Amino acid sequence: MGRVYNFSAGPAVLPEEVLKEAADEMLDYRGTGMSVMEMSHRSKAFETIIQEAESDLRELMNIPDNYKVLFLQGGASLQFSMIPQNLMKNGVADYIITGQWAKKAFKEAQKYGKAVAVASSEDKTFSYIPDCSDLPIDDDADYVYICENNTIYGTKFKTLPDTKGKTLVADVSSCFLSEPVDVTRYGVIYGGVQKNIGPAGVVIVIIREDLITEDVLPGTPTMCQYKIHADAGSLYNTPPAYGIYICGKVFKWLKKQGGLDAMKERNEKKAKILYDFLDQSSLFHGTVAKEDRSLMNVPFVTGNADLDAEFVKEAKAAGLENLKGHRSVGGMRASIYNAMPMEGVEKLVEFMKKFEEEHQA
Ligand SMILES: *Cc1c(COP(=O)(O)O)cnc(C)c1O
Repeated sequence: MGRVYNFSAGPAVLPEEVLKEAADEMLDYRGTGMSVMEMSHRSKAFETIIQEAESDLRELMNIPDNYKVLFLQGGASLQFSMIPQNLMKNGVADYIITGQWAKKAFKEAQKYGKAVAVASSEDKTFSYIPDCSDLPIDDDADYVYICENNTIYGTKFKTLPDTKGKTLVADVSSCFLSEPVDVTRYGVIYGGVQKNIGPAGVVIVIIREDLITEDVLPGTPTMCQYKIHADAGSLYNTPPAYGIYICGKVFKWLKKQGGLDAMKERNEKKAKILYDFLDQSSLFHGTVAKEDRSLMNVPFVTGNADLDAEFVKEAKAAGLENLKGHRSVGGMRASIYNAMPMEGVEKLVEFMKKFEEEHQA
């Protein structure tokens, strides 16, 4: 049995060390005589797991004390509703539309109040990040919303928008822990963990305390109130316990790798191998503006849909899996998250070179 290089956008590759450790602890978690899957979320053992996960994450991201860390469920998609339900005190919010996830969040917010699209890159199939240095931010806006890394299109905000003093809310699902961030610049940072951290089923929300209030929109379900979860330390109801346990292991793995500075360095190196090849290739080319390129998701095409399909098929046979692009973009996409080893990207580029030689006109 062999592991493949898995370029899936999510759920995605996890560090092998973490999987092995979890396997070792599967039947008997550290002398408890049971798996983490089988234990009470109120047990001493699980209390330690969730507390260590939080403190390791705080250390990795340098999260200030006036921010809460919540481990929730419902996917990143439920945050599309929870954010307006909890934050739209004036009933107004500004959205920057850089792809399908931002657009979905925007559409959802329109159910709750006046959501305004203050910038968009839809005119060019979301292949760039719009200039956000002087946006028409609404005076009454409760927050400005971005999707910081656009998983489907492969773009990333390299500078955060000027929100003109308004609270910044960011979906970081696909760039979570890929590089250091200044948490103080955000009101809310959130993401589904199945892209760059752990297994599907956990959403991490990092939220400034003053944004956590009882003053939510009428009818907001209890389970959708940040305050309920914050007051209960993410244990209001049964949390996604096993997922949190794996996330905790990934945090420890990241610390061992040298933290987020080291991850950034490694991710830049990894992405450069692929982008450098794309920039000189006569067959393959990248699809987004160079200055906005993501370190995590790299879409590329040959310009010929049949050849793209052939590439994906042959790559799979060579142990390079899940390279098919998102159905809305076509072509290919290599997601090269934290846990993708350097060799995976080197193998991919080697394979692309060979494919190029064999399919040259
Ligand atoms: C995958 C993804 C989502 C949706 O996540 P779910 O957990 O499936 O709801 C939202 N935003 C971004 C940026 C994503 O990559």
